[in-house]
Amino acid sequence: MKIGFIGLGIMGKPMVKNLLKAGHDVMVFDLNKASVDEVVAAGAVAGTSASDVASKNPLVITMLPNSPHVKAVVMGEGGVLSGAKEGTILIDMSSIAPLASQEIERACSAKKVRMLDAPVSGGEPKAVDGTLAIMVGGEKALYEEVKDLLLVMGATAVHCGSIGAGNTTKLANQIIVALNIAAVSEAFTLVKKAGVDPHLVFDAIKGGLAGSTVMNAKAPMMMDSNFKPGFKIDLHIKDLANAMDTGHGVGSPLPLTASVREMMETLHADGFGNDDHSALARYYAKVSGTKIGE
Ligand code: NAD
Repeated sequence: MKIGFIGLGIMGKPMVKNLLKAGHDVMVFDLNKASVDEVVAAGAVAGTSASDVASKNPLVITMLPNSPHVKAVVMGEGGVLSGAKEGTILIDMSSIAPLASQEIERACSAKKVRMLDAPVSGGEPKAVDGTLAIMVGGEKALYEEVKDLLLVMGATAVHCGSIGAGNTTKLANQIIVALNIAAVSEAFTLVKKAGVDPHLVFDAIKGGLAGSTVMNAKAPMMMDSNFKPGFKIDLHIKDLANAMDTGHGVGSPLPLTASVREMMETLHADGFGNDDHSALARYYAKVSGTKIGE
C-alpha cells in the first residue's frame, strides 16, 4: 500500500527499509537530507513536507524524538493535518507523553483523521530485523485494520487500550530498562573494584535470576567501553521525564526513576548525552574511580 513516513533517524530508516522490502510504496520526509537520500536509494520517494506526504498517502507513520516534534509535525504549519484527507490514518510510533498523544488525537479527530499511538521497544537491531515489540493505543478496530502492517516492522503488536495507552506502556518499559542498566552498572563496577573479572561474573550469572535481555545487550558494551548509540542518553532522559510527569499526574511516585534520571542528567552535563544509555557505567566510573571496561 501507499505509506507516508516522517522521521528517518536511527529507528525510522530501518523501519522504512523493511516496509519497502515488504513491497509497500513509501514516501518519506525528514529535515535531514542525508537520511532522506539513504532511504531514497533503497527505493523510497522523497516528499517536500509533512503536509505533502499526508496529502498523497492514506496512511502516515511518524517516528520523531518527542512530544513537541510530533505536535509540530502533525498539528503545526505545513504539518500532516494541513494535508491529510478525511479518513487518513496516522500511526505515531514515536515515544512521547501519553497526554500529548491524547491531545494530538483530538486534533486528528476534528479533521476526521484516525490515529493510533504505537511506540516500540527493541532498539536499532530489532528495527533492522523487523522484530520490534510494538505497544498500541487507540481504537481496537483501527488496530486490527493495521496490525499486519505493524508486523512488517515488529515481531509483536499488542493493543494496550485507548489512545495514549501505547505510550503509557512504553514508559513502563523505559523505567524497567533504565533501572536494569543502572543495576548492571552498579554491580559490575563493584565486582571490578573488588578484583573479580566482570566477564566471569557475566558468564556466571546470566543464566540465573539476574539474567536479562538488558544485561545481555548492555554488559558487553560496558566491558568493551563501547558506548556507540543505540539508544541515546538524551532520549532516555526524555522518556524518564515523561514518566515522572505522568507519575506525578496520576499520583504514582517514582523514586528509583528519579535517581536514575539524575544520573543520566549528570552524564548529559558532562557531554555524554549522545552516548548509548549503557554509558550509565560512566557515572559509576566517575563516583567510584573504577571503569568496568579497559
Ligand atoms: P533520532 O534522533 O535518531 O531520529 C529522529 C529523526 O526525526 C531525525 O532524523 C530528525 O531529523 C527527525 N526530525 C526531527 N524533527 C523533525 C521535523 N520537524 N520534521 C521532520 N523530521 C524531523 O531518533 P530515533 O532513535 O530514531 O528515535 C525516534 C523515536 O523512537 C524516539 O521517540 C525514541 O525515543 C524512540 N525509540 C528509539 C529507540 C532507539 O533505540 N533509538 C528504541 C525505541 C524507541
